[in-house]
Amino acid sequence: MHIFFIMRFLPLLLALTVVAAPAAAQQDPTFDWPALQQEGAQLLSQYLQVNSTNPPGNEILAARWLKEVLGREGIEGQILDTAELGPGRANFYARLRGTGKRRALALVHHMDVVPATRAQWTVDPFAGEIRDGYVWGRGALDMKGHGIVQLLALIAIKRAGIVLDRDIVFIGNADEESAGTGAITFVSRHPDLLADVEYLLTEGADTRVEHGTVRWFGIDVGEKRPYWTRIVAEGRTSHGSVPIGDQNPVPRLARAIARVAAWQTPVRLTPAVERFFIAMAKDQTGVGRRWLADPRAALKSPAGRAWLLSEPERNALLRNTISPTVLNGSNKTNTIPERASADLDIRLLPDQDPVAFRRELTRVIGDSLIRLEEIAPITPRYDAPLDTELFKAIVRVAGELLPGVPVATPVSPGASDRPTYAQAGIICYGLDPYLVPIEESRYEVHGNDERLSIPNVGWGVRFYTRLLQEAGH
Ligand SMILES: [Zn+2]
Repeated sequence: MHIFFIMRFLPLLLALTVVAAPAAAQQDPTFDWPALQQEGAQLLSQYLQVNSTNPPGNEILAARWLKEVLGREGIEGQILDTAELGPGRANFYARLRGTGKRRALALVHHMDVVPATRAQWTVDPFAGEIRDGYVWGRGALDMKGHGIVQLLALIAIKRAGIVLDRDIVFIGNADEESAGTGAITFVSRHPDLLADVEYLLTEGADTRVEHGTVRWFGIDVGEKRPYWTRIVAEGRTSHGSVPIGDQNPVPRLARAIARVAAWQTPVRLTPAVERFFIAMAKDQTGVGRRWLADPRAALKSPAGRAWLLSEPERNALLRNTISPTVLNGSNKTNTIPERASADLDIRLLPDQDPVAFRRELTRVIGDSLIRLEEIAPITPRYDAPLDTELFKAIVRVAGELLPGVPVATPVSPGASDRPTYAQAGIICYGLDPYLVPIEESRYEVHGNDERLSIPNVGWGVRFYTRLLQEAGH
């Protein structure tokens, strides 16, 4: 059925290519959006049938499928890093050549998906079922749907005979849902393929759709960095029946935790968060609207500052945060332990220098006998500028497709492959190229009955195709 569909539509799209004269196509190419939407839904259905559940991943199946789809369009793809990533695993790479006048733009998605439990789904999560106007399956939102939209925009540009000033690089990575070894391997092994890449687009910010209204279009420009730290107190193990004061590490640790928890870390408004708050102000009322519309002024007023910090999500965007979580001490009531420790879930603002933060944390603890241990290496810094040509191009296209809707720049609390690519000197942005109601994205991403509506597939293809034209010249 899918093959039949593609065969039906290919001649139509090829015919369009022939009709559009190359010169006119530069200005005003005629894309058949309804046909692209249908084709996108069919491609997504096929892609969702490629089971790339991680673990184990099996992304090589996805890479082969992508290679075949692009091969039909005369775009040669490469299946990479199979030996390094292990059995069944791979990264995928392809490039649509432009004139080379400007540096390349990379479209990146991850090919793996998180596991799905069949019994909890209405449909088979790996059947790619199209039903009730949706394409259903694990990965529809996170993030095979996004990958298909990128793929089809690239194909649409190629078919229309449009030659951009930038090469468009298309990458599918393995293992984003686990350790991120796909992107890490790609960046370390293929600096030659990334050398001319200026910008990168991948998953990220939610565009907020609530009660049928698009509240803002999101461009994700940074991530808070987990800086997980263990604080450790050493003492002398002995019997609990004979207290030994501060040689018992437990009360010493408890005092340190109390000081850390009471620490009011400095409040700082980054440009991205400022823009995010201003975009949110639009549909607020009363005092909230006033403070969000001018967060800089709000932070100077005690009332404004208190209001901004009163909500945990906003508070977390304005400062480095620390949550003490895991506690370890003795495992026996009558034994004073040799060592007691607490894990701190620390999240740093994207531009925070970790060394300076650690110095401050040590000062706040104020106990030279408490040691700080790194639980995991800190992720690379990722915060992208707001004044680049690509950023402006995204704002223009969002304005064209969503007139009057503000563009917000949330800082993501979650993690993605962006820091890995940012480390290679590439300016990365995250976005979601569709208008998914908040109720759907909140419960279906990594949840059950994940699905993407067919109109959203069409919206995404249109968004990306327009963006490639805007950013590519
Ligand atoms: Zn994802």
